[in-house]
Amino acid sequence: MTKVDIIGGSLGGLSTAISIKEQNKSIDVIVHEKHKKIGYNHEGRRCGEAYSIEKEWNRWTPRKKSYYDEIRRGIIYIGEKKQEYTIKSGIAYILNRQEFISQLGKQAIELGVEIQTNHKIKSLSNLDGDYIIDASGCPSTIKRELNLNKGLKGVTYQQTIENSNYFISDTIKIYYIGVFGYYWIFPRDPKKKEVNVGIGVVKDFGYNLKNLLEEFKRKQNITGEVNYVTGGLVPVGLQRPFKYKNILFVGDTSAGSFPSSGQGIYRALLSGEVAGKCIAHNQVHRYPYILNKMFIKWDVMYKLFRPINRICININPNLALKMLEYWIKFNAKVSHQFDIKK
Ligand SMILES: Cc1cc2nc3c(=O)[nH]c(=O)nc-3n(C[C@H](O)[C@H](O)[C@H](O)COP(=O)(O)OP(=O)(O)OC[C@H]3O[C@@H](n4cnc5c(N)ncnc54)[C@H](O)[C@@H]3O)c2cc1C
Repeated sequence: MTKVDIIGGSLGGLSTAISIKEQNKSIDVIVHEKHKKIGYNHEGRRCGEAYSIEKEWNRWTPRKKSYYDEIRRGIIYIGEKKQEYTIKSGIAYILNRQEFISQLGKQAIELGVEIQTNHKIKSLSNLDGDYIIDASGCPSTIKRELNLNKGLKGVTYQQTIENSNYFISDTIKIYYIGVFGYYWIFPRDPKKKEVNVGIGVVKDFGYNLKNLLEEFKRKQNITGEVNYVTGGLVPVGLQRPFKYKNILFVGDTSAGSFPSSGQGIYRALLSGEVAGKCIAHNQVHRYPYILNKMFIKWDVMYKLFRPINRICININPNLALKMLEYWIKFNAKVSHQFDIKK
């Protein structure tokens, strides 16, 4: 009997487990999660919790309780300029991410997946599955061991603020700071009038993110009490390799996040689903090809944009901002999700 070991009981690991079992009940699937609980742990909160799905893909639509509200409006600030987007219903959510992951865990168990919590995998030598799924997030446990940890990474810092004057339950706000990154203000739990306020930058600049965020809060006059702090590394775009021998990398360890927005939830779920199907149908060799095909366009766009915009910054910062404005509009258009208002 085929056995699959999955490292990580979060979005990527659980979507893989569910996908395998849905396609092929006879495969043994074990999820190893280092925390005591699925979802309701620190990693479960390590996120801004904004989640949008491509309109043709509603397989992973959150059910009530696993999201706080739909996102219907996005406001993006680029320098002095403001772009406003209306977002169609049914494609963008503020997740209650801990609950969402916990529901995926329950679904996996119902399908016959074994979940071992409080079980940290320290090395590949701990596992004997025919296939291994590394869904351990960023940075990847296994890629570190195998010295395969390539790919651009960003760094983030986020505070959850309660009773905030910036709480609007269906509206997200993003403030771009050139090519280097952006601040975000996303709503969270309406009962607490919470917002997730964060900053994400491309890693190599060595900024003090906490100081920058405090300065941003002062400038924007964001009030309320900080009740939770998180952050850490995020993969920017695809993280190769996607497969190594019998190991498939899923979620942050391979699909990474959308380079322009840092969204990784959708990619984690999708890559897990594809990896699961490939294993269930004995088509593992096709996994890298499919993953590449799904997400490569975003990487190509970003790789073209980044150096050109850096040159623009040196010539004329206003030109760079103008370019960023077009870049964001272009991204919105390609994703088919948003209607540009003004
Ligand atoms: C501050 C911040 C804000 C973000 N905001 C957004 C956002 O608003 N929208 C969005 O789409 N994306 C956002 N992201 C990115 C998103 O959170 C990730 O892309 C997504 O969580 C990736 O899912 P994953 O399943 O691959 O990994 P993770 O969700 O990181 O899960 C990895 C799992 O593996 C477990 N694990 C790790 N090592 C081991 C081990 N050795 N043994 C056993 N278990 C292990 C962990 O405990 C965890 O449960 C944000 C990220 C950060 C850091």
